[in-house]
Amino acid sequence: MSLAKDIKSILVNEQQIKEICERLGKEITNDYKSKERPIMIGLLKGCVPFLSDLARHIDLPIEIEYMDVSSYHGGISSSGDVKIRKDMNTSVAGRDILIAEDIVDTGRTLDTIVKLLKHRGAKSVEIVTLLDKPAGRVIPFEPKYVGVTIPKEFVVGYGLDYEEIYRNLPYVGILKPEIYTK
Ligand code: 5GP
Ligand code: MG
Ligand code: MG
Repeated sequence: MSLAKDIKSILVNEQQIKEICERLGKEITNDYKSKERPIMIGLLKGCVPFLSDLARHIDLPIEIEYMDVSSYHGGISSSGDVKIRKDMNTSVAGRDILIAEDIVDTGRTLDTIVKLLKHRGAKSVEIVTLLDKPAGRVIPFEPKYVGVTIPKEFVVGYGLDYEEIYRNLPYVGILKPEIYTK
């Protein structure tokens, strides 16, 4: 059974993803070159392909950590209730933090995590996200580094899932609505 047959259209192709990682990697390398060992925190599981590709374009000594936070209970809409399922293993006190996300939609997840990391004493907290869906915002939130701004569509691939499937698609595509309405 092919995954591609469930995709209505490709929104960000492999070449575009490559260019985004190169561009953001250069920008981050330049902005963080005077900081001491920034920590990149990936939000599982959606961040995995993006963090892995982006980090290889950041030419600096960085640490990489992961947190598993969730505002989704499956399906295609956010619950608004952000839970920490797995915390990171290092103290963020006095550290420069760069959170890597797959997509910013309502803004609830990042708003909660940024507040938490600042409360824990992080020196700075910025966001790098592959996708930004500003039309979905419930809480005003502007990520510093954005790969590409997308319309209010439910997308999958390159880390993003629908009920845990499609994360391994090499591109970002719009899921056919009949997949989640059936
Ligand atoms: P927020 O808290 O900004 O509403 O949502 C962030 C999380 O919701 C993302 O990290 C992602 O897991 C999920 N999400 C938001 N929009 C989409 C989408 O279009 N497709 C998928 N697969 N997940 C999404
Ligand atoms: Mg995510
Ligand atoms: Mg998900």
